[in-house]
Amino acid sequence: MPLYEFQCQNCNETFTKKMSVSEMEKTKVRCPKCNSENVRKKISNFFSITSKKS
Ligand SMILES: [Zn+2]
Repeated sequence: MPLYEFQCQNCNETFTKKMSVSEMEKTKVRCPKCNSENVRKKISNFFSITSKKS
């Protein structure tokens, strides 16, 4: 199962969650600190790391 790293855009908390891809798609990730849904995914193990920088 991939480990995802997130950063909360609201309080800047960084946290990780381990979940499956399908779980990821149907789950709203929330910051464990402030409970905001305004989180950004930082890394994934298998999405394109090399292809784009935006
Ligand atoms: Zn937060």
